[in-house]
Amino acid sequence: MNTNCPTCGSPLKPEETTATGKKLQRCSAGSWNPQTKQAEGCAYVKWIQDAPENLDEKCPKCGSHLIMQTTRTGKKMKKCSAGGWDKAEKKATGCAYVDWMDKPMVLEEACPDCGEKLVLQKTASGKQLKKCSTAKWDPKTKTASGCTYIQWVNDKGPRTAPSAAAKSNGDETAPEYEF
Ligand SMILES: [Zn+2]
Ligand SMILES: [Zn+2]
Ligand SMILES: [Zn+2]
Repeated sequence: MNTNCPTCGSPLKPEETTATGKKLQRCSAGSWNPQTKQAEGCAYVKWIQDAPENLDEKCPKCGSHLIMQTTRTGKKMKKCSAGGWDKAEKKATGCAYVDWMDKPMVLEEACPDCGEKLVLQKTASGKQLKKCSTAKWDPKTKTASGCTYIQWVNDKGPRTAPSAAAKSNGDETAPEYEF
């Protein structure tokens, strides 16, 4: 990929990967000044997005074809090709059909609190947690129900109180757009 910067014409730097797993190329005429904490020179950044994959599936709402897309947090979803995102208005346009791929994985482990199966879930920030499969989140009333058992999979995870974790659980169901 030897493209030049569309802003200043300098060659772009080699591909980098961000902490969230996104790929980008910066302009070689730009640099970060750690003293002033400001970008100097050309600020052009080219985000490398995996092209959305056209699926051989029809939208159940409007009949347009569906595409597979990965959000900035690395979650996969099927969405309707007739749907879009209005950056200026910050709202979804067209068909809003979205089907998230990252369904929680059911584990062969029983919840120490209630004995039901645990499920493995990824938070929006990419941390993994085990939670009880009876835990439910109602986005309408914004309340959690069922068992509140939560275990963070790696020790670096924040030790959140169950109520805070239940709150982040609500975010899991909110679509994230990135265009
Ligand atoms: Zn440039
Ligand atoms: Zn649709
Ligand atoms: Zn439980």
